[in-house]
Amino acid sequence: MRRKLIVLGSGFGAFSLIKEIDAAAYDVIVVSPRNHFLFTPLLPSTTVGTIEFRSIIESIRVAKPDIQFYQAACLSIDTDQGRITCWQELDDSEFTLEYDLLVIAVGASNNTYGIPGVHEHAMFLKELADARAIRQRIIDCFEQASVPGLAEVERKRLVHVVIVGGGPTGVEFAAEMHDFLVGDLQKSFPQLKDDVRITLLEATSQILSSFDVNLSSYAIKRFRRQRIEVRVRSIVSKVEAHAVHLADRSVIPYGLLVWSTGIGPRPLVQSLSFEKELRGRIVVDEYLRVRGRSDVFALGDCATQYGTDLPATSQVAQQEGRYLGRVFNRQARGKPIKPFEYQHLGMLAYIGSNRALADLTSVKGHGIAAWLFWRSAYLTKLVSFRNKALVLFDWCKTFFFGRDISRF
Ligand code: FAD
Repeated sequence: MRRKLIVLGSGFGAFSLIKEIDAAAYDVIVVSPRNHFLFTPLLPSTTVGTIEFRSIIESIRVAKPDIQFYQAACLSIDTDQGRITCWQELDDSEFTLEYDLLVIAVGASNNTYGIPGVHEHAMFLKELADARAIRQRIIDCFEQASVPGLAEVERKRLVHVVIVGGGPTGVEFAAEMHDFLVGDLQKSFPQLKDDVRITLLEATSQILSSFDVNLSSYAIKRFRRQRIEVRVRSIVSKVEAHAVHLADRSVIPYGLLVWSTGIGPRPLVQSLSFEKELRGRIVVDEYLRVRGRSDVFALGDCATQYGTDLPATSQVAQQEGRYLGRVFNRQARGKPIKPFEYQHLGMLAYIGSNRALADLTSVKGHGIAAWLFWRSAYLTKLVSFRNKALVLFDWCKTFFFGRDISRF
C-alpha cells in the first residue's frame, strides 16, 4: 500500500516538492488555504500594474493533477496519532486527515514587532490580495487628492507613500512605485506632480543589508536621483490612521503606508511543541526532518537547519522542496539518500528606471545590464510556460500602453 504523504502549504517549498515527487509512489495530499502557487519575487510589480495579478500564479490542481488538494488551513498536528486537523474557511468547517509522512511548508507571517497601529493601518505585501488592495489604495489616494477645494496639507498627505523596511521587498516596491508615478500617474494627474513623495524608512543604518555594500550604496544614490527619500536609523514607534510616529518623535503623514519589515512564525508553527530557534522557526536536521522525528519534515521560511542560518528566501525554499521530493522518490525505490546542501546562486533587486542590482557569486553588477539580467532570470524562474508568456506580454503591454489606473 502507498504511504500517505501530506504537504502543508502551496508556496515555493511545497510547490517544488510536489512538482518533483513521483505521485505514483505516494498518496500525496496538499492542504493549503491558497489553491495556487504565487511567484512572490514579481509581487511588487503587480501592485502598480506593471504585471497583472493572474500572470504570476499557477493553480496547484493544474500544475499537478495526479495529487489530492484541499483548500484549507491546518489548525493543529497530533504527532502521536499521525493526524492533522484542518479548517475550511469557505463553510467554516473542520476535518481531520491521517498521515504517514508530513511536510510542514507553511511559510511565515508579517512581523510587526508588536508596534501599535501597524495591523490596523498599514498595508502588507505578502499575498496577491495585499497587492490588489495596495493598487486600489494608490488610485484612491490620487483620486481623493484631485478633488477641488482640498487643503494643501491634506493633498500632500494623500500622495505621500511611506514604506517601512529597507530590505529587498521594500526597495522593490519603492522602485515600482517610482516608475508608476513618473510613467503613468503624473501624466494622468499632472496637477499633483509636485506634491508626490515616496519615503523609505529603515530602522538600521543601511538598506539592502544582505547585498554587497557597493551595490546598496548605488541603490541609495539612484533613489536620491529618483527623489525617493531614504531615511535610515528611523525606528517606527506607533502608526496612526494618517501618520507614522518615529522614536525620535518626528511624525510623518502618509496616504499609503506599506509595511515590509521581515517575518515571524505563523500561528500553527507557534502552537507546535517541536524544537525551535530564537526567531521561532522549526529546527530540522540535515535531511530536513524535524529534530527528534522521522515522519515529520519542515522546510522554507518556517524552518531552519540545525547549525546553519540559511536566509528566508524563495531560493532556499525551492531547493529544499526539490531535495525532499527527490529524497521521497529515492526512498520509495529503496535507494540511499544524501543530506541537503544549499547552493547560493546570488541575489537580484529591481531599483527603478530600468535598473537593477545583481549580487551573484561570480560577478556583481548594477544598472541597465543588471536589469536585463533580472528580467531574464525571473522569466526563466517562473514555474510554467503560461506564466512566462503572460509576464512577457505584460511587460510589453506596459512598455507600449503604460499601466492601467482605472478603479473598479
Ligand atoms: P510561502 O511561499 O510563503 O508559502 C507558504 C504556504 O503555506 C502558502 O501557500 C500559504 O497559503 C500556506 N499556509 C499558510 N498557513 C497554512 C496552514 N496553517 N496550513 C496549510 N498551509 C498554510 N525571495 C527571494 O529569494 N527572492 C525574491 O526576490 C523575493 N521576493 C519577495 C517578494 C515579496 C513581496 C515577498 C513577500 C517575498 C519575497 N521573497 C523573495 C521571499 C520568498 O517569497 C519566501 O522566502 C518564500 O516564499 C518561502 O517559501 P515557503 O514555501 O517557505 O513559504
